[in-house]
Amino acid sequence: MSTSKPVVAVVEDEPALRQLLAAYLQRAGFAVQLYEDGAAALAGVRAQVPDLVILDVLLPKLDGFEVLERLQHDGTAPPVLLLTAKTTESDRLRGLQLGADDYVTKPFSPAEVVLRVEAILRRVRGGAPTPRTRTVAGITVDEDRHLVEVAGRPVTLTPTEFRLLTLLMHRPGWTLTRQQLLDGAVGTDFLGYDRNVDVHVANLRKKLGLRPSPIHTVYGVGYRFDPPEEGGSSGAAPSSP
Ligand code: CA
Repeated sequence: MSTSKPVVAVVEDEPALRQLLAAYLQRAGFAVQLYEDGAAALAGVRAQVPDLVILDVLLPKLDGFEVLERLQHDGTAPPVLLLTAKTTESDRLRGLQLGADDYVTKPFSPAEVVLRVEAILRRVRGGAPTPRTRTVAGITVDEDRHLVEVAGRPVTLTPTEFRLLTLLMHRPGWTLTRQQLLDGAVGTDFLGYDRNVDVHVANLRKKLGLRPSPIHTVYGVGYRFDPPEEGGSSGAAPSSP
């Protein structure tokens, strides 16, 4: 029985960078698929889905955002680590909104990229062999199939929003700090950009569409998942026995 290595696709048009990343990844025990433009990457990744994609943003033929968007549209997108020289807030947020799992700004250290790849894969694979489908407060989460329903209505979340929701739902009533949520769901990537968590939570609340939201803001600290009492119908007059 052969132990198959996890496969990482590297999409980078600069040959030196591509080879450097490949060498570091192989040394860390990964198999690599190498692509030098967006169109080739899209076709290749669709044909043979890797465990993770390292995706440069500035690419010939199709740029990284376009590749990311099309992969997400397929519905079977592997996790994506974006590489970019762009450092503006709007590009960073665009990557997040399109569902990237992490983000590294050039110039980067290849060793750090490998660490982030490993961190994403750990997050995606998750740890505990706990029940993988749960329903709390009308929200059903199927962690194996990455499906979320609210009162029977399917809700499409980005991978990061999905992980935020599962982290919060695993500890109802507990306050998780922004840092814990960053580490657990967003990645230690954005170098202390705590506010990324706020953006993701705001999107998540909006998509869940529950009023009041079971995700409570704990000012100055973080967030808490606190579902309403079972059977308590809001607005109903209390009945005495
Ligand atoms: Ca490039």
